[in-house]
Amino acid sequence: KFEWAAELVNKLNVVFGIDSFRLVQEGVCNANMSGRDIVCVMPTGGGKSLTYQLPAIKSIGCTIVISPLISLIRDQILHLRESNVEAVMLMSGIAQDEMRSIMRRLDETATGKGGVKLCYVTPERLSKSDNFMFMVQKLAKNGRLARFVIDEAHCISQQGHDFRTDYKKLSMLRQQFPKIPILALSATCSQKVLEDLLQILGLKPITPGRSANLNGTVYFSSPLYRENLNYKVVEKSSVRAEVIRHMVEYILEHHPNASGIIYCLSRRDSEAVAKDIQVRSEGKIRTGVYHSGIPDPVKEKLHEDWRSGAIKVVCATIAFGLGIDKADVRFVMHHSKSVQNYYQESGRAGRDGKDADCILYYRSMDAFRYNELKQESKQSHQQIHEMLRFLQDTNECRNVLFAKHFALSAWSADELARCGHCDNCTRAPGAVEERDITVDAWRVL
Ligand code: ADP
Ligand code: MG
Ligand code: ZN
Repeated sequence: KFEWAAELVNKLNVVFGIDSFRLVQEGVCNANMSGRDIVCVMPTGGGKSLTYQLPAIKSIGCTIVISPLISLIRDQILHLRESNVEAVMLMSGIAQDEMRSIMRRLDETATGKGGVKLCYVTPERLSKSDNFMFMVQKLAKNGRLARFVIDEAHCISQQGHDFRTDYKKLSMLRQQFPKIPILALSATCSQKVLEDLLQILGLKPITPGRSANLNGTVYFSSPLYRENLNYKVVEKSSVRAEVIRHMVEYILEHHPNASGIIYCLSRRDSEAVAKDIQVRSEGKIRTGVYHSGIPDPVKEKLHEDWRSGAIKVVCATIAFGLGIDKADVRFVMHHSKSVQNYYQESGRAGRDGKDADCILYYRSMDAFRYNELKQESKQSHQQIHEMLRFLQDTNECRNVLFAKHFALSAWSADELARCGHCDNCTRAPGAVEERDITVDAWRVL
């Protein structure tokens, strides 16, 4: 535990009115407080701002945030002022006397009389204003420059889709301020963009772990955390009719008139399941089939019927994905072959932000089937192994398991916050069922 842990949570509650951290946020805050260079990749809406705003409040001096858009900066400033955090912004077109007043407040911060916690600046302003750079130097010299934050950091790479020339000039930060930590934030960051980013900013290679003598860059990444998705793993019967019955009852009880998707392991399965569900529900649940073997006109018709509500439940292979623009998918049932698939497929639920269920059906025998599946759908032993571990885990939060799966740094893996609403988070204590992942299933891997 870090010495600042309690104080961070306190500020989180009191200043921002937020109960608890999301996935990697706490790890990023701790790495910030430890003075490390950081790259943090988190999807839009994931909560990147908090990962520097909270450390900014806790740190001595001012945090300088470089952000590409004035509208983004304005939003942040409004939000911070509501929370009574002292923040200023510098951009082109700012009035002279306003500029003077900001510089005065920064000067007071540099000399320890004032307390500007966050200073937002656009990259073009940063590189054009000598006055401002002079002030940044003064802050640094007086030990009042906490860190640099580079928002939308992928803009620095020509290989990305949002390249901005002025971002290139940010390479001077490390050159002029070698001791000031840098936090780079982005929602999308391919391997190539990441390499560019490290190189241009002059950051050391990424090292896992938190040991003080490891001074490389700490890398965090997080899958999209969506709190309206309820994850649940259900062991299914080995009798097929029983599985169908369970699904039908579940749908009729919880989502009688809602739209949903059932992901199946093969084309044949998706056809059989569609038929059986419709029959078993006596036509109450209208189903359709989608897989790559379905002719295009039929696919189009299905999309149409699904959108209009004429068909409620689509039984499909993983091929059903692109072009699903339906916002009100209330449940997705899965017979997924990998954690990656389960995660990806479940992302199609609840796009309207309302609650949705993502139920994974499994039985240990399926491991053999994953193994037999042909060509593109064949999973590596490693993936099957991971899937079995995911299924078998009755303790760890499902969202934490996803986060770990998506290659988080060792730094954060042990301090991820539980989501509080997946099956493993909500199960009553002592109610852990034995998971039937048989020894045989393991041996085959
Ligand atoms: P990003 O920059 O990653 O797109 P933001 O930092 O703008 O996302 O945050 C998105 C929203 O999530 C904001 O409204 C913020 O207040 C909220 N938020 C951030 N962290 C948390 C949290 N731990 N719990 C609840 N809400 C949060
Ligand atoms: Mg943001
Ligand atoms: Zn959970």
